[in-house]
Amino acid sequence: MSTPFQQRSIWSGFQRGLSGKCPHCGEGQLFSSYLKIAPRCASCAHDTGVYRADDGPAYFTILIVGHIVIAPLLFLEFVRTWPVGWVLAVVIPTIVALTLTLLPRVKGAFVGVQWAVGDRPRSS
Ligand SMILES: [Zn+2]
Repeated sequence: MSTPFQQRSIWSGFQRGLSGKCPHCGEGQLFSSYLKIAPRCASCAHDTGVYRADDGPAYFTILIVGHIVIAPLLFLEFVRTWPVGWVLAVVIPTIVALTLTLLPRVKGAFVGVQWAVGDRPRSS
């Protein structure tokens, strides 16, 4: 069900975007590929292609991964005792996997918040 502009909440837009769904109806797919926003929702025809996330999702993904992986590494014993090559063999794939997993979700949430706060499609 689509949501009128006056009733849009940041939380519902955030949740719908986080799950990769259209922030307007919560049913159609937000992405047409890994990170490409579909131009229109297949379910409600909302113009999802107008939302521009730019570098915001990358910035927040780096912030989240840094707090989940990098900061705890400072307190883990194996970082100081294992050879550097082993540490990198564990840490780098973890960072890459977490980043690639989070990036589309963060972008979806970013678009969902834009939908809620009024970055509406411009009439032309
Ligand atoms: Zn929709």
